Amino acid sequence: MLIIISFLFIHWYASVFAQSFFLHRYMAHRMFTMSVFWERFFYLGTFVTQGSSFLHPKSYAQLHLEHHKHSDTKEDPHSPHFFKDVVAMMVSTARVYMEFKGGKRRSSSPYIEGLPTWGVVDRLGNNHFVRLMFCVAYTSVYVAFAPSLWWYLLLPIHFLMGPIHGAFVNWCGHKYGYRNYAINDQSRNTFIWDVLFVGETFQNNHHKYPNRLNFATRWYELDLAYPVIWTLSKMRVLTPR
Ligand SMILES: [Zn+2]
Ligand SMILES: [Zn+2]
Repeated sequence: MLIIISFLFIHWYASVFAQSFFLHRYMAHRMFTMSVFWERFFYLGTFVTQGSSFLHPKSYAQLHLEHHKHSDTKEDPHSPHFFKDVVAMMVSTARVYMEFKGGKRRSSSPYIEGLPTWGVVDRLGNNHFVRLMFCVAYTSVYVAFAPSLWWYLLLPIHFLMGPIHGAFVNWCGHKYGYRNYAINDQSRNTFIWDVLFVGETFQNNHHKYPNRLNFATRWYELDLAYPVIWTLSKMRVLTPR
């Protein structure tokens, strides 16, 4: 039982950290720079930890910048105020993401073309067979260590880790919580301490200051990814812009 709980815990945090640190703060917002070695280290880390729900980093960045540009308007790919439920919102998000990935849609952001890609990792990460193999690997851990079949009910969380994080952050972060800033959208800060989504649900703070590395802006708020990023900066793994 302990092994299954630890596995879920590690997979959850490794995956949500990769999303927040690499896809969101590094790729989409260019909040810091890294050497080619560390960039590739975290690119590969994102592939391994997101596994079956890997998102192509450059396409994610385009999708996300589209959200900032049109936040809570009809053109926003995932505003909870324009969809009847969370599933409809995620279907629309997936459609816009696929349009960017397929080159049918282009972002107008000036630095998008300069964003890094890594052909072999992008191809592997988007391959259906590779995604299936990740699902087989997650299931094998449960076959080996789950004390009963009831535990298998947790497996869909592993299979759909990325979309589950995205659904929660996008829906709750623009619908539930408090606002520090009266800005021109519906963004909210869902928690005072964002321990579960490592800072991603501070949407109101983040939309007010989209390039601020620490998503917490009040003394009592905690963005769990920030102390890690601060430490990586002191270790010279990254340099804030
Ligand atoms: Zn947002
Ligand atoms: Zn953002």
